[in-house]
Amino acid sequence: MPLKLVTGPANAAKAGEVLGGLRARVDEEPLLVVPAFEDVEHNQRELAARGAVFGVHVVRFKRLFGQIAGRAGVRGRAASRLQRELIVADAVRAADLDALAESAERPGFVRAATRFVAEIERSLADRSAAGPAMVEPARLIQALRAWAGDGPRRRHVDEIAEIYRRYRERLAGAGLVDDELYAWSAISALRENPESWGTTPVFAYGFDDFTPLELAALGALAGPVGVDVVVSLPWETGREAFRATAGTYAELSGMASEEVELSALSDFYAPESRATLHRLERGLFEAESKWADSGHDASGIDPASGKALTRADSGRNTTAMRPASGGEAVQVHLAGGRRAEVELCAAEVLSLLRDGTAPGDVAVVLRDPRPYASTIEQVFGAYGIPYSIDRRIPLRHTGVGRGLLALLRCAAGTGSADDLLAYLRTPGRLREPIYADRLEVAARRDGAATAARARELWDGWAERDGIGPFPLTEIDRVANLREEPEALLDEIARHAGRLFAGPYRRQAHVLEGAELDDARAFQTLGSALRDMRALARAGGRIDFARIEETLGGLEVFVGEEAQPGRVAVASPLAIRARRFAAVFVCGLQEGEFPAGSASDPFLSDADRREIAQASGLVLPLRENQLERERYLFYVCASRAERQLVLSARVSGEEGEAEQPSFFLDDVERIFPGLREAARRRSLADVTWTPDEAPTEAEWERAVAAQRQAAPPEPVGPVALDAALAALRDRGAVSPTAVERFAGCPVNWLVEDVLRPVALEPDPERLVQGAFAHDVLELTYSRLREQTGDRRITEANLGQAEAIMLAALAEEVDRRGATMRGPRMRAAVRRLEFQLLRHLAYESTSTSEFEPEHLELAFGLPDAEYPEVELEGGLRVRGKIDRVDRRGDKVAVRDYKSGKVGDYSAANWPSKGRLQAALYMLVAERLLGVEAVAGLYTPLSGDDRRPRGALNADFTEQLGGDFVGGDVLSGEEFAALRDWAGAAIATAAAEMGEGRLCSKPDSCAYRGGCSHPSICRIER
Ligand code: SF4
Repeated sequence: MPLKLVTGPANAAKAGEVLGGLRARVDEEPLLVVPAFEDVEHNQRELAARGAVFGVHVVRFKRLFGQIAGRAGVRGRAASRLQRELIVADAVRAADLDALAESAERPGFVRAATRFVAEIERSLADRSAAGPAMVEPARLIQALRAWAGDGPRRRHVDEIAEIYRRYRERLAGAGLVDDELYAWSAISALRENPESWGTTPVFAYGFDDFTPLELAALGALAGPVGVDVVVSLPWETGREAFRATAGTYAELSGMASEEVELSALSDFYAPESRATLHRLERGLFEAESKWADSGHDASGIDPASGKALTRADSGRNTTAMRPASGGEAVQVHLAGGRRAEVELCAAEVLSLLRDGTAPGDVAVVLRDPRPYASTIEQVFGAYGIPYSIDRRIPLRHTGVGRGLLALLRCAAGTGSADDLLAYLRTPGRLREPIYADRLEVAARRDGAATAARARELWDGWAERDGIGPFPLTEIDRVANLREEPEALLDEIARHAGRLFAGPYRRQAHVLEGAELDDARAFQTLGSALRDMRALARAGGRIDFARIEETLGGLEVFVGEEAQPGRVAVASPLAIRARRFAAVFVCGLQEGEFPAGSASDPFLSDADRREIAQASGLVLPLRENQLERERYLFYVCASRAERQLVLSARVSGEEGEAEQPSFFLDDVERIFPGLREAARRRSLADVTWTPDEAPTEAEWERAVAAQRQAAPPEPVGPVALDAALAALRDRGAVSPTAVERFAGCPVNWLVEDVLRPVALEPDPERLVQGAFAHDVLELTYSRLREQTGDRRITEANLGQAEAIMLAALAEEVDRRGATMRGPRMRAAVRRLEFQLLRHLAYESTSTSEFEPEHLELAFGLPDAEYPEVELEGGLRVRGKIDRVDRRGDKVAVRDYKSGKVGDYSAANWPSKGRLQAALYMLVAERLLGVEAVAGLYTPLSGDDRRPRGALNADFTEQLGGDFVGGDVLSGEEFAALRDWAGAAIATAAAEMGEGRLCSKPDSCAYRGGCSHPSICRIER
């Protein structure tokens, strides 16, 4: 059997042996088989650099099987990965599951089942005279039953076998084969017709593991076909690091007619790092006794030949091996949190690139790069490092994907109002995106929860306005095709195209940056829809829910392909066949690298071992996970030619302790003191020091962090003429605005000029504001109509309460949708209790003043009274909550939902409380009366006494229940009114002149102002 096996540790020139042999036979157009896509490109470049541009084909095993099938005349339509998953899902659904029923409900079960099916199909059933054969359903059930017998496991294994059987039936029913079936057919056709292959030699390089299926292919080529097959394998007898490849070595060794065992060489390392890196490669995971006293010098290099010394050389060199430091060649990074770890790595990478290292000569290796992808994108992107990474995001996280999935949910009738908004907000969907904002406001105010209700609001505008929003008929079109899967898939594909092209309509736009993500999402969608369509046409079960579920589970590649001009951010497997000037192994944490073994929902390792014993069917095991992890770490540690950086975290992002990987201990055994010399970055290092800052922007941040923070510029007067003119021309203002200006002009600017509106109104504020006032107005006016009483008394309290409750219910009904939702109902209920207590308190009052005017409006549209001009020419308009009258004397009242202690007479000047004073002036001018009290009436709290100012001469007539400080003598009351008049005039003048400033002394921060971030007052 012409199979030549080339073994040796890392850097033993295995590639030279394999690729040298390949170049020598370039005239025969040999095939070079490598593990991954990136290896294909890399090896093509390497071969081209050595003159082998034409004649060599670099392929993966999948292509090799294709070549075998093509030459042996095997035909078949291969199912895509997605089609395969869909067929497995069908098989799972169709199977009569009991023991697996619960697991089958969990997300991820179908993916696990698909993996299991592939594992079965890659396994070897038997090695008969006709050659190796795959595991057919009958063989699987026979093996599983031989193990399970009639015991409690019988049901479990029957269900596993049923899923596999149904999968094979459905695959055949759809006229498809999967990759493994196709490969087995190709191998068996090749064995039957060996001449079909011709004489093409095959070389396999870069593998550390082969599936039984791949071994069967190599065996068929080297055996019945009889072409030369050269396979390299990382292997060194007795080395701990290669335990994981022992099984593969045994298989290949049994097939090989020739074995070439190569020794470690140090030639590949940069001279300045040679001793250290070679020492690491030789010593990693080896017992100290094997190398510490081996008599080699520190470099492990034979001084005579310059070649690496092996254990066979032990004893002939007399220089004792001393512990060496890692020096520049092997370093450790220790960080607090993932971001700091990536920042440390990025800073070092940047420094290498600036020193002339090509980006393609640097690798950042992570056991699983996926969880790091986003942080790497942020940090490497900010530092301007070109990098490649296999990054995938859910389709629903892309603009096109989010929009399309939302459209499907709307069409399915399961969509929420947010789904409709997400669909409308897909870039390019609306020419006027403000319509979506308007819909959001309307939907929130309406309390619309479903897409259907939100759509009613949308359609309502179209009808009412006759312009603007247009009917969303595409939702109906998709919904109407629910029963026609193929047409539905075509319709969805059309919408995907529209959503993708929408933002670029009528533009010759070249996509770049993040825009490419949508192009990739569109491509992924297109491919998935085509796969589903093909399956539907072949009789596969494709329905609306399935389409939605399948598209919802898609992932989109958004990273960058590996290229020579980019730093490779990759897993150990992706870089195992290459060398780099510098390798950064990051994420060296317990549980991460080494990774724990994944459990299998179908058969555990123990089950698989017993099955092998009972039936002879050998299924792959996961138990040697640690050996595999050791091997992968060895791979990472041996890929660097000049510099190896090992990076770990000592804490997580929240400061919780994290345990670095014990692989670091293994390295430290060879280079003691590595950790003490580690470069560190803690969780608290939010910037670099200026000396270390890796980029201009980081330097600026570092310098800024060291500067004494200058106090923010205070808000100053309005300077723009146009703004001043707008302020002057604002016309009449409300008393609340005047009071707000007097209290703090910045607060006034935001609340009364800019007037931001919350998207979703706060139920409390809504209920406590106009709603409460309307209920009270109805209560008092109806009480007067029904009883003739203007005041609440103990006698009419019951009736007043009934009137109030009816008014409250009426107002809820009148406001309709805006009063929906549990928070709103709770707020209304709370108000109901507050008003009942208010009425009860009022009924105890002995006031001789009767409520005369409720919600007295002036200067407002449809108001009975005109606006009022006050001191300084200030024109005001608004509503006085209540005016109580006795003869020609009045008391004005303003209802407050919260406590009113802040509105005491003493606080009026210091806090700029002008509202009640202003109402007194307005009432006097409108009604021709004299105001003797300006009161703020609380609607909540235990102390229901009103606060404000009143003339002591009228205390008894007003009921007498006041806080002492609010009761002022006639002179004091007059002086306070004079102060108020002057303050109103000042406020009016300053308001017109735009004299803005913040007033921390009379700040309303705790009294309702929400804008401290605008005035930037430190408190
Ligand atoms: S927080 Fe105080 S000072 Fe700042 S704007 Fe509001 S009221 Fe004015």
